[in-house]
Amino acid sequence: MALATNSPADSKTLLAKYYNLPQPEDKIQVMYVWIDGTGENLRCKTMTVDREPLRPEDCRLWNFDGSSTGQAEGSNSDVYLKPRAIFSDPFRGGKNKLVLCETFTYDMKPHATNHRFQCTEVMEKAKEHEPWFGIEQEYTLFDTDGYPLQWPKNGFPAPQGPYYCSVGAGKALGRDVLEAHYRACLYAGVEICGTNAEVMPSQWEFQIGPCEGVSAGDHLWMARFLLHRVAEDFGVVVSFDPKPMPGDWNGSGAHTNFSTKAMRRPDTGLKAIEDAVEKLSRKHAEHILVYDPKQGMDNRRRLTGLHETSSIHGFSSGVANRGSSIRIPRQVAEDGFGYLEDRRPSANCDPYQVIRMLVQTTCL
Ligand code: ADP
Ligand code: MN
Ligand code: MN
Ligand code: MN
Ligand code: MN
Repeated sequence: MALATNSPADSKTLLAKYYNLPQPEDKIQVMYVWIDGTGENLRCKTMTVDREPLRPEDCRLWNFDGSSTGQAEGSNSDVYLKPRAIFSDPFRGGKNKLVLCETFTYDMKPHATNHRFQCTEVMEKAKEHEPWFGIEQEYTLFDTDGYPLQWPKNGFPAPQGPYYCSVGAGKALGRDVLEAHYRACLYAGVEICGTNAEVMPSQWEFQIGPCEGVSAGDHLWMARFLLHRVAEDFGVVVSFDPKPMPGDWNGSGAHTNFSTKAMRRPDTGLKAIEDAVEKLSRKHAEHILVYDPKQGMDNRRRLTGLHETSSIHGFSSGVANRGSSIRIPRQVAEDGFGYLEDRRPSANCDPYQVIRMLVQTTCL
């Protein structure tokens, strides 16, 4: 009888036996997670500690070989990891943890790809505004052959229309990944507030928030990590590319919903939202530069003015308008307070850059 080691399902059945072994009380696994040199991919590695860490400060400074992640030269390759946010590990369970880290160079300066550092400084300056963020993360599932999950291998599925918020075989492609990820996030302590099937087949969305300040970025990055990790179990690949399939197929964004204390108040709400939109209208190009990891080159493929996007070349805003840069949700316009939605960030954006820029432009 052959050992089916290449089958993910068989492999997971075998693995369950080892996960079920009792784990010594004083041996806790802590997985350190960080953003690599691409600014969009994640890396991880694990250490054993003798006590359960409850706060990021309970986890010690660590390091990794930056020459293997596009983050350092081989001759001076150590990059430091500083834990900043801690989550329960839904894969190893028990007291085991996941810690999201910032990266620092050998001389303890924030690494060029560490956008959390500056984001934290800006949020600190703006803290009396109490900025909240809710981010809608769109993504596409792929087979390991690089073609979208369950698309016919020699052609295309039926045109867009039936897939958004769909139910049923042949329409909701890859739902198991979404469901597993949702529960993994809830277990971990990630502030996930909803999910839906998207417009392109095999495209999905989850939402994070509302979270205050820099924590919005922490929760989104950890949710992305969990999604890659869950999809790995299913033998499926996650793409955050903003336009994974050229042609008449929707791209993927990371709509960023944003409010300040004044925007959330019935007496000042709409005025504060309108003031923020006015300020944003004057900084369109600066925002586009940090709304994807390639200074706008990625978003250029997505923000065409078609497929529920605005053109990358100009700023626009409107109530309930999904073809504008900034949308004010219908309910918010009716209530007279709430939040605004910036529809421009690319699905592969660094949320620390996006929320930092929003606060810098509208609050400081
Ligand atoms: P859409 O209609 O654009 O698809 P979603 O329901 O997908 O909207 O997402 C709405 C997002 O708005 C969620 O991430 C939620 O956390 C966020 N949100 C709700 N209220 C606020 C608020 N006051 N400030 C910031 N974000 C908010
Ligand atoms: Mn080694
Ligand atoms: Mn949405
Ligand atoms: Mn969406
Ligand atoms: Mn949206």
